[in-house]
Amino acid sequence: HKKHKVTIVGSGNWGTTMAKLVAENVTANPTLFEETVSVWVYEEEVTLPKESRHFDPGSELATKPQKLSELFNKLHENIKYLPGITLPPNVVANPDLVDSCKDSTILVFVLPHQFIPRICDQLAGKIVPFARAICCTKGVDVSEKGIRLMSEAIGMRLNIYCGALSGANIATEIAQEKYSETTVAYDPPPMDSRAPTPKGSPNASMVDLISPSRSVPSERSARLKALPNEYPPLSQDNVRKLFHRPYFHVRIVDDVAGVSLGGALKNIIALAAGFVDGLGWGDNAKAAVMRVGILEMVKFGKEFFPDSSKTSTFTEESCGVADVITSCMGGRNFRCAKMATQRGESIYEIEQKELNGQKLQGTSTAYEVNSFLKQQGLESEFPLFTAVYNILEGNAKPQDIPELIEPKY
Ligand code: NAD
Ligand code: 13P
Ligand code: CA
Repeated sequence: HKKHKVTIVGSGNWGTTMAKLVAENVTANPTLFEETVSVWVYEEEVTLPKESRHFDPGSELATKPQKLSELFNKLHENIKYLPGITLPPNVVANPDLVDSCKDSTILVFVLPHQFIPRICDQLAGKIVPFARAICCTKGVDVSEKGIRLMSEAIGMRLNIYCGALSGANIATEIAQEKYSETTVAYDPPPMDSRAPTPKGSPNASMVDLISPSRSVPSERSARLKALPNEYPPLSQDNVRKLFHRPYFHVRIVDDVAGVSLGGALKNIIALAAGFVDGLGWGDNAKAAVMRVGILEMVKFGKEFFPDSSKTSTFTEESCGVADVITSCMGGRNFRCAKMATQRGESIYEIEQKELNGQKLQGTSTAYEVNSFLKQQGLESEFPLFTAVYNILEGNAKPQDIPELIEPKY
């Protein structure tokens, strides 16, 4: 029988970490997965930093800029986005997007969310038609038509089923194999169950990619291609085997909307936590914005994805409250918002100066969520999300947060 070939689309801090752990798992499950894991690298020229363990002042490597993908394959390390971590030899970087996904039946998307639509458009029609995807990106996709999960944005553009992985997962800790949990949402489409379709039943290959949300009225179903029988089924159990490690504990659920929204909305909350911490206000202030943010997250799911997201996903799984907590302690959104407030600089300047090419997701998500809430006329019902947007826009200051989130009595 055939095996699943896996491609990781994206090679930033989290993308490279996912490549490492997925590569360990394909080795551990040789009957299910092909040995080589391919990683699409957005190509750039890099010079080895002096702090790198590969730095040798006498060698050409030390002075000449090199292609990131070539260094990745030579050193088995992503020296720019995950320095100091050795990757397994079965991870292979490829700077050619279409070629990196060729023949892959499993696509793991780990790009900053702003790049997802463009990258999917370049892949459309060029992937295995019965491929399945998992989205590890945290963000949402907003247009005049409404709001879409990133997993939906991928699924609709590529006409494939797309689940989601999200949790309290600061990448560097996982790359160092420190224990953490995550949540994978994977609700296999009916044709993947291998049960014969009863005669006269409606076309089983036409399925809703996820249950309809209230805000995007149409085009939510796709004609999915069944996975041929030569491949092992992509059951929840087999999908779990791709991600679960002794140091990375996976709990698997059906709720793609809840898992995706938790990961996206916590980035707005982490900015608020950074703003108040940057004022020197202490842990009580941080806990207050976390409390209000979690309530808004749950309300957002109920309001706009009523048929598909469950409150318990936010409260009980790693992708909800737990991710809010870790992100408000040490995430990049938190740290950059804190520095911006302390130094009186814009968060965009801080992102440029401090992150060495890594990207914040909370800033654009705050704008996207705000434009969606404006469309719905519901800004005032989400005061913390609205406050973060207004601070980023320069209409309000971090000091205004207590007043802005105070309920109107
Ligand atoms: P990153 O922020 O570390 O790196 C940015 C990446 O974007 C780099 O790989 C860079 O090459 C790439 N890039 C830059 N310009 C590009 C372009 N024009 N087109 C395509 N790619 C381009 O990336 P990351 O941490 O892997 O984040 C990816 C997603 O994973 C985000 O949605 C993030 O929220 C999520 N995530 C991150 C972490 C974490 O701790 N880093 C944890 C969980 C989830
Ligand atoms: P940041 O992007 O803010 O670092 O958050 C990482 C994350 O998603 C932790 O779960
Ligand atoms: Ca189901």
